[in-house]
Amino acid sequence: MVRAAVLPAVGAPLEIAEIDLPDPGPGQVRIRLAAAGVCHSDLSLSNGTMRVPVPAVLGHEGAGTVVAVGEGVTHVSPGAPVILNWAPSCGTCHACTLGEVWLCANALNGAADVYAHRSSDGRDLHPGLNVAAFAEETVVSASCVLPLPEGIPLTDAALLGCAVLTGYGAIHHSARVREGETVAVFGVGGVGLSTLQSARIAGATTIVAVDVSPEKEELARAAGATDYVVASENTAREIRALTGKQGVDVAVECVGRAVTIRTAWESTRRGGRTTVVGIGGKDQQVTFNALELFHWGRTLSGCVYGNSDPAKDLPVLAEHVRAGRLDLGALVTERIALEGIPAAFDNMVAGKGGRALVIF
Ligand SMILES: [Zn+2]
Ligand SMILES: [Zn+2]
Repeated sequence: MVRAAVLPAVGAPLEIAEIDLPDPGPGQVRIRLAAAGVCHSDLSLSNGTMRVPVPAVLGHEGAGTVVAVGEGVTHVSPGAPVILNWAPSCGTCHACTLGEVWLCANALNGAADVYAHRSSDGRDLHPGLNVAAFAEETVVSASCVLPLPEGIPLTDAALLGCAVLTGYGAIHHSARVREGETVAVFGVGGVGLSTLQSARIAGATTIVAVDVSPEKEELARAAGATDYVVASENTAREIRALTGKQGVDVAVECVGRAVTIRTAWESTRRGGRTTVVGIGGKDQQVTFNALELFHWGRTLSGCVYGNSDPAKDLPVLAEHVRAGRLDLGALVTERIALEGIPAAFDNMVAGKGGRALVIF
């Protein structure tokens, strides 16, 4: 029996419960979690903005140690430190053959087949986003397990699994920020902070952080922001004023709301790139008129998991961590126990803090 945070039904509060885990079957790995980040997507899964079969164990940003491996697993062995990858790629679908593994058609398919936690009362529990990291231990498909590169603290490594791959990828893969460009980042949560750090790594000169809360300025500046704007109806105007009246080369939206996407778009220079990382609901309609699409010549793109290939990107990120360019600890504003996850959700709704990290 291990303890886990269980979502009993969509919209219901998480329950801390003891659950039974199966032994790892062929192609599976059992992992003892060291830490798991509380991501906005967990909140979206719990409140129904994103869908997950229930009851479920959420949590998808984790790192830990291999306890046991099933038949046929050779790339990790017991005792190995690992990072969980919630979006494993199949290698054979159209997207995978094009190298766009973050769009793998089979990434979230069949998770319940390879993995079914059993709760102590006999109900099957689904692993939210494949890996169910809000538990002391988990059993996952071997394709969800990446060896941890050397020199990275195991608890902080959890953040690499979602927030950092997403923020780094938004800058380096999606927007392809070049040295000397200007960047604005909307939303200073875990992903926003890693996006700011990544813009700094890319050599962006002016880096503007935007958030509704004035209290996040210090956090944002520590992550690389050169300017801080408290969101208002004047945000786009303020950003243009900070960039020679032009607007930024790249605006990254990490919120997922229509008004923020629209503001990010209006803060982007003529010909610049607006990248939407935040996951919004279907009710968030963003409108553009035909003339402005022509006049501004901007590119608007979505971005899934930072358009990252975790197997290729983790070694690069690890090098940035070892060299001190990427500070994982600076993304964490709270270290909590499993019981603290509901309060961490409340803080997200209230727009407070960066990443909350569950320490097991
Ligand atoms: Zn996430
Ligand atoms: Zn695929």
